[in-house]
Amino acid sequence: MRKCLDRTFFWLLGLGLALNGLASMAQTPPVEIHDRISQVSNPMNNRVALTLDACSGKFDEDLILFLIRNRIPATIFATEKWLLKNPQGLTLLKAHLDLFDIEDHGENHIPAVIGAGRKVYGIPGEPDMLHLRREVLEGARAIEDATGVPPHWYRGATAEYDQAASDEIRRLGYKIAGFSVNADAGATLKRARIVERLRQVHGGDVIIAHMNKPKSDTAEGLSAGLIEILKRGLVFVRLDEVDLVEVKGVPAR
Ligand SMILES: [Zn+2]
Repeated sequence: MRKCLDRTFFWLLGLGLALNGLASMAQTPPVEIHDRISQVSNPMNNRVALTLDACSGKFDEDLILFLIRNRIPATIFATEKWLLKNPQGLTLLKAHLDLFDIEDHGENHIPAVIGAGRKVYGIPGEPDMLHLRREVLEGARAIEDATGVPPHWYRGATAEYDQAASDEIRRLGYKIAGFSVNADAGATLKRARIVERLRQVHGGDVIIAHMNKPKSDTAEGLSAGLIEILKRGLVFVRLDEVDLVEVKGVPAR
């Protein structure tokens, strides 16, 4: 009997260690997903996509008015939180759905990493898979309620994902929108740096910037840099018009 209990103890210990190992395997370090536009149907390779995150915070009206004046299309990743706080911004976007494709940035801007205590840039992630599902699906519902158009793309807060989270987002039916040029580093860069980064843009690039910090230099930097891109003969497209392909092992510029 004693022997049998010992054996059970060691068996349970072994099982515990194995489960622990599996749990730490599931908690892969988060990665930034880097994408470019698929060039399958575009041999000229002259398309670029501008994506703007509306995380939480305010509405950068100057930036959106600049895009409207210059007929530059963009894909907006908005959270439910941002939509609720910025009804005027939403009204302006909705008046120009020919230019703006509005996609899912989650319900509450929680990074797509799963596990108690995990953080990205200091922002806590999701405690478990159920919370991740809620973040993605409630974000999608908010976009559809606000615009009448269901989203097909998802970008998590901070644009970093662990493997379990990215697998689940895709299983829910959403494509993950990475990027290849980080134009404003979370709306922290000055005008000249933004213009400099936009000079690196080539056909196929996906630009990320922000439209939730009107006091930043983002509107000024993009206004100057995007006009230069147009002058170079590149054409802006929305993500609902193209597919993206993941570029592995190449850091975003
Ligand atoms: Zn964000």
